[in-house]
Amino acid sequence: MSEQQIQAGPAGNRSRVVIVGAGMAGVQTAVALREQGWGGPVTLLGAEPHQPYDRPPLSKAVLLGEAEGSAFEVDFDALAVDLRLGTDVTGLRSADHELDTPAGPVPYDVLVVATGATPLALPGSAGVPGVHLLRTLDDAERLRPVLADKRDLVVVGAGWIGAEFTTAARAAGCRVTVVEAAGRPLAQALPAQVTAPMSRWYEEAGARLLTDSPVERIQSGSVTLAGGAVLPADAVVVGIGARPATSWLAGSGLALDPDGAVTADGHLRTNLPGVYAVGDCASFPSARYGQRLLVHHWDNALSGPRTVAAVILADEAGEPAPVYDPVPYFWSEQFGRFVQYAGHHGDADALVWRGDPAGPNWSVCWLRDQILRAVLAVGRPRDLAQGRKLIEANSRMDPARTADLGVPLKSAAL
Ligand code: FAD
Repeated sequence: MSEQQIQAGPAGNRSRVVIVGAGMAGVQTAVALREQGWGGPVTLLGAEPHQPYDRPPLSKAVLLGEAEGSAFEVDFDALAVDLRLGTDVTGLRSADHELDTPAGPVPYDVLVVATGATPLALPGSAGVPGVHLLRTLDDAERLRPVLADKRDLVVVGAGWIGAEFTTAARAAGCRVTVVEAAGRPLAQALPAQVTAPMSRWYEEAGARLLTDSPVERIQSGSVTLAGGAVLPADAVVVGIGARPATSWLAGSGLALDPDGAVTADGHLRTNLPGVYAVGDCASFPSARYGQRLLVHHWDNALSGPRTVAAVILADEAGEPAPVYDPVPYFWSEQFGRFVQYAGHHGDADALVWRGDPAGPNWSVCWLRDQILRAVLAVGRPRDLAQGRKLIEANSRMDPARTADLGVPLKSAAL
């Protein structure tokens, strides 16, 4: 888009959009606004000092030193986006249509909250030397020399980040013990039958996985488990989840749910007029799944912005706005495997296996009343791609054919 087009602005108004948070969701909102023809000023405020970057490589290539960084290839000047880095927004005064920042107030007409998530720390671990989180480029850069030193590491949490960090640390030659408070990895995300083969991946990679092992205390050089066992640790990486980064909104009148997520509606609007929310910081009602979803995955931070931009344009024009109701999708690269998941499953959904989970490639489908609800694919990207489309179409499946690896998943639809 040329500067002339941007200034002419097919939207025909000069409202100022301010986006708080210059991660994936914030950057993509700015890009989508311009792509969809927003002609007014766009300001993007980000707390971090770095050029906006992508997070998935932080637990993969960037951590291993195989990539220097992961900055987005976006020319903010060409898009006429006023990018202000190192700008930590500390408050929202919606009655005045202003944000508070250390550099002074920033006025807005339309506000997009895209402040992402903050990793959870273990109580008492803040400031203990050698204890790390993995969320930012700075975190990854601090961890690189730790891996290069090939030391004894303890990873707290066998979730997605814990598994990816363990993979990188083993590849770097570190000794790794993973301690998990639950009885198995990914206990909140996947059923026990599905995580059973995944538990074995830790062992196969030469990492030690201790389940039912809550941490009692972390001190410099060691981790003490609730049972009293003491694990030596040159460094500790804590990967126990993340919480929406919304504490700066306290007292603003913006509605948050008990997890701290901004409770957006089906158009990603918030309870405050002219204020929208997108990405890891916001939950939205899914008509498809009959519940509110808080999705902490990259694809949501890519597709949510396209909807939020379209809704802003529609609201300014007084036209009907699109609804955000995606089939959630994410991937994880762990222990030499490409793991992908699409959809959303419940405990009551029927599990159908495709392939042997002891082998390198297999999938699992979740069916409700024979309708495909979710797919997990390990090294089977075709199952994932086909499954995602079938889920979007609410496809009814033949369970026997769904289980038959000789039948492409799309051909198992009735
Ligand atoms: P964020 O990326 O968290 O960006 C929010 C930005 O807002 C941050 O830069 C933050 O500094 C800024 N901010 C916060 N508060 C303020 C404030 N008050 N003022 C100004 N700025 C503020 N997903 C996958 O699907 N697959 C993967 O393999 C995968 N790997 C990942 C690996 C790592 C190490 C991490 C951390 C995440 C990974 N994810 C992955 C998740 C994915 O990266 C996130 O879902 C995505 O980054 C969310 O984007 P976001 O813009 O909503 O939030």
